[in-house]
Amino acid sequence: MTSKDIRNHRMSDEVYQENFSDIKPPLSCYQANMEASRCLYCHDAPCISACPTGINIPSFIHRIADHNEDGAARVILEENILGGSCARVCPTEVLCEQACVRNHSPECKPVMIGRLQRYAIDHRQKAAHPFTRAQKTGRNVAVVGAGPAGLACAHKLARLGHDITVFDAHSKPGGLNEYGIAAYKLVEDYAQEEIRFIFEIGGINLETGSRIDLEKQLPDLTIQFDAVFLAIGLGSAKAIGLPCEQSRGIQEALGTIETIRQTKNLAELPVAAKVVVIGGGNTAIDVASQMRRLGADEVTIAYRRGLQQMSATHHEQSFAKESGVRIIPWLKPKGFETKAGQLHGVRFVKTTQDSAGQLLETGELRVIPADRVYKAIGQTLTAECFSSGKLARSQNGKIRVDDQFRTSIGNVWAGGDCVDNGEDLTVHAVQHGKLAAEAINRFLQPLEV
Ligand code: SF4
Repeated sequence: MTSKDIRNHRMSDEVYQENFSDIKPPLSCYQANMEASRCLYCHDAPCISACPTGINIPSFIHRIADHNEDGAARVILEENILGGSCARVCPTEVLCEQACVRNHSPECKPVMIGRLQRYAIDHRQKAAHPFTRAQKTGRNVAVVGAGPAGLACAHKLARLGHDITVFDAHSKPGGLNEYGIAAYKLVEDYAQEEIRFIFEIGGINLETGSRIDLEKQLPDLTIQFDAVFLAIGLGSAKAIGLPCEQSRGIQEALGTIETIRQTKNLAELPVAAKVVVIGGGNTAIDVASQMRRLGADEVTIAYRRGLQQMSATHHEQSFAKESGVRIIPWLKPKGFETKAGQLHGVRFVKTTQDSAGQLLETGELRVIPADRVYKAIGQTLTAECFSSGKLARSQNGKIRVDDQFRTSIGNVWAGGDCVDNGEDLTVHAVQHGKLAAEAINRFLQPLEV
């Protein structure tokens, strides 16, 4: 991407294609085998414990080195049925690859575990599903939400012989994989390709366009189904709490990422010249980098704390900077500058922190010109989820679950972003779904007499 190209608001098709092409292109067969040969097949491999789904990494890499891609894929999919998308979107640099022994001095170059994982999944035999469904148990489970947690749970339970109905409010399944991740991370409709693979197991009935109102419908679901798994994500964007926040030109970042993912023609998307993104997570990085790659002249991410405290990894921050995004830490929004209802800037106060880490305002103001602002300060669950009083809520407003992902309602489990255990990556959601499925399966076993 050249800076000359990016300044044009209507770029050529080739430039759009280049700016939105796969950011982690696949390894060739030769590259994969060379990379696999770097693995030391460590005893007590630290990469396994650093993987939230516990994939046996040396085992699958060994199979790649043996040219057994099918076996490698099976090792991955046994622990993580969404191993293909996780290979593309996981921040491996702070997970398995950070833990890899080859990441330490003097080499400092971990085995490319994520890209090898993608290689194995992409090169598996696609003619047959790698798992067989157990004999039907006659038990049925409702899964609310067809994002990574819901899909992982549905596949595991279907594999164990239960009948699953997945409800999702959107017209397509996939949750954040389909709607909430930058377009260049999951190219060529990969989210839907992976879902078709997951559904090959059989026994999963999908009802899209089906928004479940938990307040009204959860009691019925707990009667109609033997168990319920809630994977509802976080539906409502947090507000900054400033006057004029509803003004034209101030938008939610996630809605914009969804629009970019679903558009058929990137050239038709409106792009502002001066963009300010408020937030410090991956959503902030994704919307900012995409806006720059769509042709915005100036894109600034403003974050109220330091770069080290951003939840976006150093790698993600570097990617944004390479895309031409400016990241300014220690800025807290104080107001929006508007003229005749038209946004033209964001007013910030500079911040610092005291020795206890408490955020302090310095009083020094700064205005950053903007004709579009994207809010990426996180999401929250809508209060209606809890209005029946039966679903217990944790202190931070999410669904409270125990270590088996069971909620306060006897036959209801929950996982993914809607639960409170401080984990919010796609790979964490998959693990929640998998563990909840195992717990639900134990619950559904007939009592021994
Ligand atoms: Fe291979 Fe690195 Fe894992 Fe060791 S830590 S098994 S070298 S990937």
